[in-house]
Parts: sequence; structure tokens; C-alpha cells
Amino acid sequence: MYQSPAFPTLSRLLASPAAALLPAVTAAVLAGSSPAAQAQDKVLNLYSARHYQTDEQLYGEFTRQTGVKINRIELGDEPLLERLKSEGDKSPPDVVVLVYATRLFCARQEGLFQPVESKVLSERIPAEFRATDNTWFGFSSRARVIVYNKANVDPKDVATYESLADPVNRNKVCTRSGSHPYNLSLFGAMIEHVGLEKTENWLKGIVANQARSPKGGDTDQIKAVASGECSVALTNTYYWVRMMRSDAPADKEAVTKVGMVWPNQATTGVHMNLAGGAVARYAPNKATAVRFLEYLSSDQAQTYFANGNNEWPTVVTAETANPALESLGNFKADKISTDRMAARSTDAQKLLDKVGYK
Ligand code: FE
Repeated sequence: MYQSPAFPTLSRLLASPAAALLPAVTAAVLAGSSPAAQAQDKVLNLYSARHYQTDEQLYGEFTRQTGVKINRIELGDEPLLERLKSEGDKSPPDVVVLVYATRLFCARQEGLFQPVESKVLSERIPAEFRATDNTWFGFSSRARVIVYNKANVDPKDVATYESLADPVNRNKVCTRSGSHPYNLSLFGAMIEHVGLEKTENWLKGIVANQARSPKGGDTDQIKAVASGECSVALTNTYYWVRMMRSDAPADKEAVTKVGMVWPNQATTGVHMNLAGGAVARYAPNKATAVRFLEYLSSDQAQTYFANGNNEWPTVVTAETANPALESLGNFKADKISTDRMAARSTDAQKLLDKVGYK
């Protein structure tokens, strides 16, 4: 089952001496025609931070369609990136899959990816869900929503992210660490929308409203809302949907006590994050790597990919095929570039330090 890996401080991620942008690599995605290159054609090396049962179908279908076998190594995001860095130009993977945008952004900054020019990918993946320099592409999306205790919160009082700082929610708000990438992305998006000063005041207001010091993961926040320890919290949709689909009696009971709102429907829309993939900088077989990323953007692969973690496909023509997710209804999504908001993570962390948001 998917677990969010622990996240090291962003400063550590960005402190690498290699944190300069990749030199411009041309759009060369053609494999060589040497015998070695031809032998490699039938194998794709994949490093993935994903590990879901539906991934078996996902990879099996690629092999069926292309005859290319997939050698995959599954690791948490952090060890995966450490391994890529330590392997340097001898690194075996063709494709790297990671589970959130901040991590994709940092890996790109560290020069671990290479740009791809693919008409298929740029036509199928919406612009907000891919890197501005075509180094990475988002293949599934999740929303960051607000949950509240139905017994003591009027959903109108938690209709926006801004309302988390409203005095009406004093001593009611719980979140996981502000420095976790899910929150950094949201706070980065807020900086993009309203600027540094207003975001700082907003974060100050959330700190003043906190019912407890930030701790735990998103699921822990939902449970704390259900138990009454807090009344309002932030969560990614897939944690909420997982709880909705759970057979555990405690989860079933918690779900009856908690409501969910799509924030900012009258303004910017709900904040979205993603899981995505990239061609590794030293990919032995770039052509197959690009082919695999293009395959991930196909309607069928999109459905497998998204369902593995109760997410939405990024490709608009792909079907969701997940009743629990569909039961959440329609919503307006924030169309801000994921890449741009990820680039604001460092600014967001500085504001957190300034206002004492742990
Ligand atoms: Fe997660």
C-alpha cells in the first residue's frame, strides 16, 4: 500500500552542488543503431516510487503492445533520487517515476532528467501538468481539499483555503508539517496567486488557528477531525477516498463524522498536485523511454495509473473508472502551472520559518 515517504528539508534537497539547471539537451530521442542499442530496445529500465497492484497491469500491457520487457526497481522517492545521483553517468534507468511535483522539480534542478520533445505528450498532457522545459510529465492528479467535523463546523466557514486563517476557525485547524511537499505546493500556489506578503499573513493566521502542533500524515488529520481533537484539516483526496473505501469499522465510523469541501470554487479552484515521470538524463535507451512515457499518456494506461492510488488521470479523454472518486462530484481545479508553484517551495519554506509554522 502506498505510504508517503518522509520528506527531508527542502534546503537539503536544493543544496546539491548540481542544483543548476540541465544544460540544454537537444530533442534527440532516437536510439543509436549499434547492436548494443538494438539489444537494449527490448528492455526498459524503470525506477519507480510507485508500488500498486494495478501497476502490474500497467506494465504488462506495455510489454504486450511493444515486446519491451520492463525491469523495474521500486524505492521511496528519497532513496530513489539518492541512488540516481550516486550512479551518475552509469545510471541504468531509462525512465524515472515519482509521486509528487516538488520532488520532480528538485530532481530536474539536480540535472537528473533530460528534456523530451514528443508531440503525443505535449498534446495529451495539459500544460499545467508538465514541466515548462518538457523534462517531466504528470500522469495522475490529486486535489488538496478541506475536511471538517460535521457536528461543529458550518461548511460555509471552510469554503476557501483563506478561511483556514479566519478567526472563526480559532483553535480548530490541524495540518501535517507545513514543510511537507503537499503543503509546500499549496503554499507555493498561494504565493503565485496573491504574493509573498498576503501569503505570510495567511500562514500566520493558520498558525494562530492550530488546534495542535503539526504532526502525522493526512490520514491522521482526518482521524483527528473525526475524533474531535480538531475540527478542520487539509488532506489529499486519495487519503479521504481510501478511508471511504475502507472496510475497517473505525474508518467507516470516522467517515460518517467528516465532511469534505472543494475549496476556492468561486475563485482560483482547488489545488492540484501530481505523480509523474521523466526520461533519466543517462537513459541507455531514450527512444524506448519516450515510447513508455507516451504509453503512460494513453487512455487505458491513464486509467490504470490513476486508479492505483485513487487519483484522476491527467489526460482529459481518459476515464476515471473509480466510483468512490466519482462520488466526490465535479469540481473546479486550479489551473496554475504545477512547475511554477513547485518553484515557489523555497519561498514557502522561508515564510513557514518566519511565522513559526512547523
Ligand atoms: Fe501521499
